[in-house]
Amino acid sequence: MTEPSLPSGNDAQVSIPWDELRSLARDATTRSYVPYSNFAVGAAAVTVDGRIVTGSNIENASYGLTLCAECSLVSDLVRTGGGLLRAVAVVSGSGEPCMPCGRCRQLLFEHGGPDCLVEGDDQIRTVAELLPGGFGPDRMAQG
Ligand SMILES: [Zn+2]
Repeated sequence: MTEPSLPSGNDAQVSIPWDELRSLARDATTRSYVPYSNFAVGAAAVTVDGRIVTGSNIENASYGLTLCAECSLVSDLVRTGGGLLRAVAVVSGSGEPCMPCGRCRQLLFEHGGPDCLVEGDDQIRTVAELLPGGFGPDRMAQG
């Protein structure tokens, strides 16, 4: 796979292990629970303090309660000590990059902040680019 283009002006991606994240995300698709859609998605991320967290999508017979891979990833983040996501890769079962849905963009804003990098298609974007003006913890403090 060719390297995706990166957000201009962001030089912190140099230390992001994108190949490892993509590989772990692909592995995570094999642990998805997708009996209804058969559309597996995996996600892998590196945290600001260097930990790796992963997630797989988990469907539900009610459909609306389905958990995306990013939901599972954030659960793994919190379960393993919390902190802030630095970069996230999301792939489908075929190994193709997959864009986070609207709900997951909000989750990534909360747990990665606006500068978190996301590879969801042929380019890497910041969460701020995926969710302009996102509602996060800072907004709660404004009361
Ligand atoms: Zn989602």
